[in-house]
Amino acid sequence: AKRSGRGRVVVYTREMEEAAKRLTRIEQALRRAVSAGEVEPHFQPIVDLSTRRVIGFEALARWNDRDLGFVPPDVFIPIAEERGVIASLSQLLLDKATRVASQWPDELFLSFNLSPSQLVDQNTGYQILSILARNEFDPRRLEIEITETGLMTDASSAEKIIGELRSVGIRISLDDFGTGQSSLGRLRDFPFDKLKIDRAFVSSILNDKPSEHIIRAILAMCEGLGMYVVAEGIEDDAQAEMLSEFGCSGGQGYLFGRPQNAEATSAFLHACYGP
Ligand code: C2E
Ligand code: CA
Ligand code: CA
Ligand code: CA
Repeated sequence: AKRSGRGRVVVYTREMEEAAKRLTRIEQALRRAVSAGEVEPHFQPIVDLSTRRVIGFEALARWNDRDLGFVPPDVFIPIAEERGVIASLSQLLLDKATRVASQWPDELFLSFNLSPSQLVDQNTGYQILSILARNEFDPRRLEIEITETGLMTDASSAEKIIGELRSVGIRISLDDFGTGQSSLGRLRDFPFDKLKIDRAFVSSILNDKPSEHIIRAILAMCEGLGMYVVAEGIEDDAQAEMLSEFGCSGGQGYLFGRPQNAEATSAFLHACYGP
């Protein structure tokens, strides 16, 4: 028994070492990719659910590393946060995304994700405003998506940064609502302009009464609070119909379009708006 116990400890340690090495390999590759400007924003359409017209795009990070191949954002964003790469990565992405979005029709907004750790860093506001100024991008066309986790670590720091952003006309969107540590108190205390209902509710809305009731309740509450609501992860027509019927204003998901690179997005817009 002792032997197998010790054996297990050895295997476990080796696995942990492997995992740590893998993280470090990704971190180093990511640092190189960020300084070479090789992480790209892709853009997923957000539509008005009643007309199905595009009203804006969410920027989503894509990294195809020359050595590691495609690494999904669910993997590299947490590593970037943990290893202190998120600020430079985020600046690279916002710079690229605002340059691209400058070429779109003026009425379309750009929605951009901020990580929780960026709401603790008091340089974040300045960094965002500098990029907008440099690229002459109208702040009123920018939306910042944050999650509740981002508000929990240091609420007063987050509040300060959000205040700076809102003072120049940037809108604030609460992402992934309904997952994690949802607190209604936060909706009262923080001035959100928008709320995004998490895909988990949307995907089960057709065959799950509780999800339907939760979505209806969120929509009623947001109407009272004057918040715009976008439902995420809409994959089929029946979901879109039902959400629209319930009074949800905005929608996002594969039904309307997958995230695409700048060129494909521009081609998509030319097809909608003409040249
Ligand atoms: P998120 O902000 O909740 O982004 C929505 C995710 O849902 C995206 O995954 C998108 O591709 C996916 N999605 C959209 N429509 C559908 C659908 O109809 N069905 C399904 N199954 N999925 C759909 P993605 O691009 O892999 O990004 C994952 C997460 O990584 C994001 O979740 C966000 O938390 C983070 N992320 C991505 N880009 C950035 C970034 O530039 N900065 C930061 N801080 N985080 C980012
Ligand atoms: Ca988001
Ligand atoms: Ca989301
Ligand atoms: Ca998410």
